[in-house]
Amino acid sequence: GKKPLRVAITGASGQIGYQLCFRIASGEMLGKDQPVILQCLELPQALNALKGVSMELDDCAFPLLKGIVQTDDPNKAFEGADYALLVGARPRSKGMERGDLLKANAEIFSVQGKALNNHANRDTLRVLVVGNPANTNALIAARNAPNIDPKRFSAMTRLDHNRGLAQLAEKLKCSVTDIEKFAIWGNHSATQYPDVTQTVVKGKSAKTLINDEKWIKENFIPTVQQRGAAIIAARGLSSAASAASAAIDHMRDWTFGTNGQWTSMAVYSDGSYGADKGLYFSFPVIVDKNGKYEIVQNIKLDQFSQERFDVTRKELLSEKDGVASLLPN
Ligand code: NDP
Repeated sequence: GKKPLRVAITGASGQIGYQLCFRIASGEMLGKDQPVILQCLELPQALNALKGVSMELDDCAFPLLKGIVQTDDPNKAFEGADYALLVGARPRSKGMERGDLLKANAEIFSVQGKALNNHANRDTLRVLVVGNPANTNALIAARNAPNIDPKRFSAMTRLDHNRGLAQLAEKLKCSVTDIEKFAIWGNHSATQYPDVTQTVVKGKSAKTLINDEKWIKENFIPTVQQRGAAIIAARGLSSAASAASAAIDHMRDWTFGTNGQWTSMAVYSDGSYGADKGLYFSFPVIVDKNGKYEIVQNIKLDQFSQERFDVTRKELLSEKDGVASLLPN
């Protein structure tokens, strides 16, 4: 059979991690014929909870699960890693300023970037940052991993993308699979821009089908942007199963390709569309069957789109400024 792939997960006993481990071990991310070794990183105070997760994984008797590493040492968690899902992050506590949050996370992600640089499998590695502020955490990890191609790092906007598809499918009474060329631009935050200007449903322009500019601007866009808060209000907890599901989608598509379809990934900006080079910025991307992604080019941004694009671009620049002193040259 195939050689197992090593999948590192940080914050593995948290809400999202608890969903992710089981779905990866059952083959939903890398395929039903691909053995995996889960390499779980947790904080020292969460190692007990992680032991419980590991016991439950054992109890599932997953045929594809060839090993579980439990550790609080990033050097061990990332040893030989082919995939890394960086989920664990410092949550915003009461009274914490945004700058403090950025810095607390910058510390975590610089340590992890260095550990990835020194221990991961550089030739195959794919890194997905889920922990917030995800785009800037990806930037910090990548900049601390000078020997790894920055294109091997990414941040998650797939949940925002999937949320947009779900809203559009409901509005247009179609299946999510009927929707093409939808994308999220920019930051995984409330400034993200869910863009329907290019979107096509069964060959017809979604904008024409919706025929309601006001709905797009005053309902659709804010609903997608603020969906996380709406889930917290309803569930009393932040979204976790849907976030894990999006992380699985992201890694699966980045491995097996998108069949010519667009998806959204926050990736290393090469300057496309004026997104500053080096930022981790969400673009429409297409992944080929060998797992190589390309940013979709030559999209015409109308004036409204350009304004939204600039807002999210500026937010990412200011996040970058907030951690500048912690970035190596
Ligand atoms: P969750 O598993 O619910 O969330 C983890 C991270 O994902 C948070 O930063 C969260 O951001 C982020 N996130 C991104 N997108 C979403 C989304 N759409 N919905 C919800 N969350 C999203 O957090 P828990 O507190 O349950 O678990 C975190 C675990 O990480 C803990 O077990 C902790 O011990 C561990 N940890 C590990 C570290 C390490 O390994 N070095 C470092 C820090 C923590 P947001 O906060 O904005 O919701």
